[in-house]
Amino acid sequence: MQPADSPVEPDDAAGVAGRLAAVRADLAEAARAAGRDAASIELVAVSKRQSDARIDGALVAGQRVFGENYVQEAAGRWAPRRAAYADLVLHLIGGLQTNKARDAVALFDVIQTLDRPKLAQALAKAMADQARRPACYIQVNTGEESQKSGILPADLDAFVALCRDELGLPVKGLMCIPPVDDEPGLHFALLAKLAARNRLDGLSMGMSDDYGTAVRLGATCVRVGTAIFGKRL
Ligand SMILES: *Cc1c(COP(=O)(O)O)cnc(C)c1O
Repeated sequence: MQPADSPVEPDDAAGVAGRLAAVRADLAEAARAAGRDAASIELVAVSKRQSDARIDGALVAGQRVFGENYVQEAAGRWAPRRAAYADLVLHLIGGLQTNKARDAVALFDVIQTLDRPKLAQALAKAMADQARRPACYIQVNTGEESQKSGILPADLDAFVALCRDELGLPVKGLMCIPPVDDEPGLHFALLAKLAARNRLDGLSMGMSDDYGTAVRLGATCVRVGTAIFGKRL
């Protein structure tokens, strides 16, 4: 028997497969209820601070799209697994320091946290140097929280123009993380409005507690961690 505080449950891999299937079914139902095609919604399994057993459980269950918050942690975990799973799609969903832009472009297929001009410039340079073009989402601080990163809604149109038109970055859409105490739907609706105004199709919004609401309001990408993997270590 494992000690009570053991972070890894003995049935972890099976548990992950079951929860992943439940989330997929739930997503499909939310899409159906919203009159949307479930295939138009990408499920990013957020694997930050999860055990190898759980991550391998998700891989065995067929999941190929994963999200990570830290470049270093992601490199250690995913560089070796790339060899076994050629069809992996890795999203960076955590804040990116400018001096890690190069590493992020080398490792990730999608960068969801483009949030300031200096980073946009560093990413443009890294992409040109490496001849790799990971799709980018611009993070929007929809709640205008001082401690949270992201472009303020009022500054978004100019930032989209800088990233897309001046720097030629492959901007796919917008991403937001609503304030914890707010009704998330208000933020998702705002993000959808901002994206439409800038002719952007991608909407990365919705996490374990609110992905159903996000799908109803047009999410094309949901980022789900604990509902799939369980509590983080
Ligand atoms: C950790 C994280 C998630 C996943 O959160 P859960 O509540 O575990 O689903 C999604 N998006 C971002 C940006 C995160 O940092």
